[in-house]
Amino acid sequence: MGKKTIAINGKNGEDYSYKKGVAEPLQLSSAFYFNSIEEAEAAFTCQSNDYVYTRGRNPVLDAFEERMTLLEEGSSSIAFASGMGAIATLLFSLLKSGDKMIAHSILYGSSYELIKKTLLDYGIEGVFINLKDEKAVKQALDESVKVIYFETPCNPTLDIISIERIRELVGENVLIVVDNTFATPFLQRPLNQGADFVVHSCTKYIGGHGDALGGVVVCKDKEQDSRIRFEYMCHFGTVMSPFNGWLFNRGLKTLGLRMEAHSKTAMTIAKFLEQHKAVKKVFYPGLESFKDYELAKKQMSNFGGMVSFLINENECQAIQLVESLDLFKLAVSLGDVESLVEHPMRMTHRGYSREERALFGIDYSLIRLSIGFEDCEDLISDLEKGLSKVK
Ligand SMILES: *Cc1c(COP(=O)(O)O)cnc(C)c1O
Repeated sequence: MGKKTIAINGKNGEDYSYKKGVAEPLQLSSAFYFNSIEEAEAAFTCQSNDYVYTRGRNPVLDAFEERMTLLEEGSSSIAFASGMGAIATLLFSLLKSGDKMIAHSILYGSSYELIKKTLLDYGIEGVFINLKDEKAVKQALDESVKVIYFETPCNPTLDIISIERIRELVGENVLIVVDNTFATPFLQRPLNQGADFVVHSCTKYIGGHGDALGGVVVCKDKEQDSRIRFEYMCHFGTVMSPFNGWLFNRGLKTLGLRMEAHSKTAMTIAKFLEQHKAVKKVFYPGLESFKDYELAKKQMSNFGGMVSFLINENECQAIQLVESLDLFKLAVSLGDVESLVEHPMRMTHRGYSREERALFGIDYSLIRLSIGFEDCEDLISDLEKGLSKVK
């Protein structure tokens, strides 16, 4: 079956319907009742598939997890309260005191702070390196490295990292975790390319409307599921709410079409920016001028809705520009129907030191756009108007 059909029906659409509703039912119950102790015991010991309590399993979340597993071509999924809930719970479940992990130097701001500061308090050391530097990756590998973690495309510079190449470099003993938030399973499926786990912030493209927080972990190996779910997610209480699960099930039904539309408009906007005299450089994986274009073409089936660019001149003007836009709302987050703009250095990536930002290209004049569904011409005139004030 095609991905759009799977996103709409899951494995078997009827399983998700209640009294023949075309839209899926919402089951908000925290607990589920039994007719006997025997029935309860069978559920408690996983001898039956009956539900017990929503912190462990819930029918709406089951339907969402099953769809995610099919779309990412994994073997099981676990839904979380947020992207950070998914990332933190997964990393705590895979690492213990004395272990090390390698992470790409450019990450989503909170993921960077989690690895750099929070995990370190528990004796887990994060080593940040540029994963495109193969020599550095080989040098950083030793017995204590258990996990390698990265995003591709990365936030906010949209660098592309070859998942296949990372697998070759680290061998079979290191678990690879890929944050697939920017690409979604419609543009790229990391588990097929050598990753062991995929994580998502569902808050972004999967929800698509900027009105629900959620996250998910998709595992390649089913064995991993019950340990992460029952020993970590359940004990940390980082479970997704059934109502949000219902919104994400709905979001998945249009995700394929939305990613096509996001990608199409983003490409037009990237080309517009590229020829503008006030723009120094555009970062978009679909542009031939982009340094990782060939790799992006190989690893992804389309290029997504995120565009970053550097403007000429100074920080002051970058700030003036982001503040002067009308249609692009000045906000963090991404993947929404509304177009958004943000200034990574002063907003999402302010946790990086000045030196780190200089090293990783998070320049004062870097601006990040999340392209929404307004008419493309209107978005371009908004940018044109803002840029006309920059020299
Ligand atoms: C937003 C985001 C996260 C964190 O997700 P939340 O749902 O906000 O907790 C992680 N990774 C990436 C790439 C993100 O964009």
